[in-house]
Amino acid sequence: MIARLRLQPDDLGVGLTGQRVRDRLIEDLRAAGIADERVLEAIRSVPRHRFVDEALASRAYENNALPIGHGQTISQPYVVAKMTAALLRDGSPRRVLEIGTGSGYQAAVLAALGLEVFTVERIGDLLRAARKRFRALGLHVRSKHDDGRLGWPEQAPFDAILVTAAGPALVEALLEQLAPGGVLVAPVGTAGAQTLLRLCKDADGAITQEDLGAVVFVPLLSGMID
Ligand code: SAH
Repeated sequence: MIARLRLQPDDLGVGLTGQRVRDRLIEDLRAAGIADERVLEAIRSVPRHRFVDEALASRAYENNALPIGHGQTISQPYVVAKMTAALLRDGSPRRVLEIGTGSGYQAAVLAALGLEVFTVERIGDLLRAARKRFRALGLHVRSKHDDGRLGWPEQAPFDAILVTAAGPALVEALLEQLAPGGVLVAPVGTAGAQTLLRLCKDADGAITQEDLGAVVFVPLLSGMID
């Protein structure tokens, strides 16, 4: 189910943010191997140009990561699609935790899918901007300013956890906050050598791991900044 977004005239876009350019992105994602129609529909429905600075809006529907300030990036649409599809594959998660809110785009795509979304960001400025976007689009996303390596224990367990910054190793606290039957998708590694991992926790708590290929993410850092 795709949640109904509260769209303003600006959200519909014109020219390089308009429907044709947005449809072309969906076709590019399909050509790149994204087959889950729910994911494609969610990406089609979320106005990505509202998640970047106005000066970059004309590039929002290119299949690229873009800067969002503080040395951070909004993930490439292909990576957002791939991670989201990996979360939804063989299951129907309800409560999802994202680590690394950034622009809020990935969280918005998850909320558009009708999931109950919790997201944690360590940079206060980015989180405040993301919250404004959620509000403007009428998306219900719960968010917290904290070091996401701690997860969100008060709200655990989660059916799915998605980490959008790369740590040198898997974060144990996040695995603990995953419900039995849950899925965690996270990039792991250091600059130049990161892989996207998909971990499943079975009903007995045993973990199986699958490698989804090489990726490039900003680092998962400790502590918080205003
Ligand atoms: N999901 C984001 C991608 C943002 S880039 C989007 O759709 O735009 C990754 C984000 O992770 C950055 O904003 C960075 O500040 C944040 N981050 C890095 N380490 C973190 C940590 N320990 N806890 C929470 N957020 C973290």
